[in-house]
Amino acid sequence: MKPRLVLVGLGHGQLEILARLDALHERYDVQYIGGRETIYTGAFPQVIAGEMESATTRLRPDVTPVANRLIGLDPDARIVETEHGQVGYDLLVLATGAKSRGLGTGLKPMTSYVLDDIVNSEAVTVVGGGKAGVELAFACIRQKRRVTLYARRLLPELPRRVAKRMARRLVRSGVTIILGPFQPGQGDGLVLDATGVVADDWWSAAGLAEEAAFIETEDDLRHPVYRDIFVTGDMAARLNGGVDAVRSGRHVARLLLGTKRPFKSRTSLNILLTTPGQALLTYGKLTWHGRLPFWLKRTIDRRYVERFT
Ligand SMILES: Cc1cc2nc3c(=O)[nH]c(=O)nc-3n(C[C@H](O)[C@H](O)[C@H](O)COP(=O)(O)OP(=O)(O)OC[C@H]3O[C@@H](n4cnc5c(N)ncnc54)[C@H](O)[C@@H]3O)c2cc1C
Repeated sequence: MKPRLVLVGLGHGQLEILARLDALHERYDVQYIGGRETIYTGAFPQVIAGEMESATTRLRPDVTPVANRLIGLDPDARIVETEHGQVGYDLLVLATGAKSRGLGTGLKPMTSYVLDDIVNSEAVTVVGGGKAGVELAFACIRQKRRVTLYARRLLPELPRRVAKRMARRLVRSGVTIILGPFQPGQGDGLVLDATGVVADDWWSAAGLAEEAAFIETEDDLRHPVYRDIFVTGDMAARLNGGVDAVRSGRHVARLLLGTKRPFKSRTSLNILLTTPGQALLTYGKLTWHGRLPFWLKRTIDRRYVERFT
């Protein structure tokens, strides 16, 4: 009998694993738990800006989920609890992402309903001045009457002169920036939580992490105690952002197929959309704002969505 491999969640990492499904079927009895589609977060600001029709990626048509949701996990008994009952496993890949903090409308998990709400709102308040919040404010102001951005500081991880330049561009585009903490009830229109993600409660309930902590993994992306569990994407403490989610999924697919090489963390290249036809590329402290990063981002995102649609 082949070992039972259970894949949970259609995160960015899981799509890369599902792309190797034919090879995986030769070694494992594979089952999938999760939805049939998910929103590619790298591209949804382009949908809001009216530059891309869809950022929805889909499960391969030849895969039928055994259930829609993981609702609990017993890693000692190797059992996933779902809305349709229990699913046993020998190896488990978790790619269910993390969740927004809970200020207004969360961006995680991103769903088509949340995306429709954003697209259909006339006024939007974005809370959070990191890369996600800034990109979202730039995208929203292209289609909305009013956009307010609350931030303690804008783009704190980038050099100050770059952050200042982006702040000027936001203001010139029509975004109202309020530097200070957001208080519930202050927002104008739909309030979007771009303050980052937090741990889901079931991780600690299952004994995979301390309360409110992200899940630790060894450099083979397996849990240090429950070695039959791989963790990809935002759930894993060692990973950061969508680029890492995609890389970690690719790596887990290779590990499942026999590679022994460890996962190496590296600086991610990020590109965020700014004003029409322009984007800001960041690589560590290096930055480049202009047309070329825009075309690069569009090409990468279109290819990704086409590949998984
Ligand atoms: C506005 C914004 C812009 C961003 N832009 C970029 C960018 O340009 N580049 C970049 O690198 N990163 C970007 N990020 C970060 C990126 O979105 C995340 O790092 C990435 O989505 C993490 O992928 P993931 O696979 O861990 O989880 P997700 O992409 O969140 O996927 C998790 C999936 O699991 C499903 N799921 C959740 N719970 C369960 C359950 N209990 N059972 C079954 N399924 C479940 C969800 O429905 C979802 O389909 C952005 C984030 C935001 C908010």
